[in-house]
Amino acid sequence: MARNTLARIDSRALTHNLNVLREMCPDSAIMALVKADAYGHRLEFCLQALEGADLLGVATLEEAREVRQLGSHRPVLLLEGLVRARALEEAAELGLELVVHEPGQVEALEQYPEFRPERLWLKIDTGMHRLGFPLEQARALLARLEALEGVREVVVMTHFACADQPEHPLTVLQMQRFDAELGQTPNPRSLANSAGILHWPESHRDWVRAGILLYGISPLAAGHGGDFGLQPVMTLESELISIIQVRAGESIGYGARFVADRDMKVGIAAIGYGDGYPRSAADGTPVLVAGRRTRLVGRVSMDMIAVDVTELPDSAVGDTVTLWGRGLPVEEVARHAGTIAYELVCRVTRRVRFKSMEPSSDGR
Ligand SMILES: *Cc1c(COP(=O)(O)O)cnc(C)c1O
Repeated sequence: MARNTLARIDSRALTHNLNVLREMCPDSAIMALVKADAYGHRLEFCLQALEGADLLGVATLEEAREVRQLGSHRPVLLLEGLVRARALEEAAELGLELVVHEPGQVEALEQYPEFRPERLWLKIDTGMHRLGFPLEQARALLARLEALEGVREVVVMTHFACADQPEHPLTVLQMQRFDAELGQTPNPRSLANSAGILHWPESHRDWVRAGILLYGISPLAAGHGGDFGLQPVMTLESELISIIQVRAGESIGYGARFVADRDMKVGIAAIGYGDGYPRSAADGTPVLVAGRRTRLVGRVSMDMIAVDVTELPDSAVGDTVTLWGRGLPVEEVARHAGTIAYELVCRVTRRVRFKSMEPSSDGR
């Protein structure tokens, strides 16, 4: 039988999360971010569940193409890049909306009348200092974009650098700068990412840009998506392929990082960094074996990990091992691995089989 290492994708949880966001932001339209293959959840498993979103956000032309190839006719926004005429041609064919963040893009649009999306998005840098025009250029650029024939609406947007830290002064400053320059314009506005949605209701405005929350994951430093009524969309699973006994004083795995302080029963699970399980995971990282919580012991290998089953004496080869998802928030695993949950879900590798999750017995 094939290796039983699976990412189960719960599309009903995705729709549930979208509905939770609707309630959190009752006066805003929702852009659902599906960049990076739906945050690693695989676009093909997610697209249908997001039909209720007002707009889909992608980072690259290739991602936009895939959305169309999967049969979606939803409005799609391309968040970055795109200056070459050939690319504009394809954007026109795909019917995309575009974020304009760079002078060359404005010129390209002026010189290429075949590409006239009804809506354009003007990105302003208010303090993140990554993409976007300086604030003082905003109004002149708005005038140029609004002069393009066929463009019905220009949304003004900015992106927060620190919205996940409620005490950080930069978010308030970014909003103040944005409003001081653009407060009087009639254009729709978009400021909030997931952390903005949670912490900064005054940032919701006309369009919220929801990424990680849709997948049931919290962007905050503590807690998890469940705190806000969200459900995890991805559950990463494998199984025990061996059980061994390890004597007190013996080490486990590469580098002998973990040393048993007593006689132990250890399960070997068929998942490793070759599947996207983080090699940086520390001893003690939580893992579920047949639904019961235990801990990682020893370094993560490419194809395997070791877990302590001393306290789970009936555990056996074939038991399901849950690395994150239902019953074990990925946020918690990320903290033990010194990274963020975004990165963990985005980097599950091609070796892992993706599967739709069957409806659960708890009636969800
Ligand atoms: C990815 C992205 C988001 C979503 O961020 P989350 O923290 O996942 O909600 C919002 N806005 C822009 C411009 C993005 O690129």
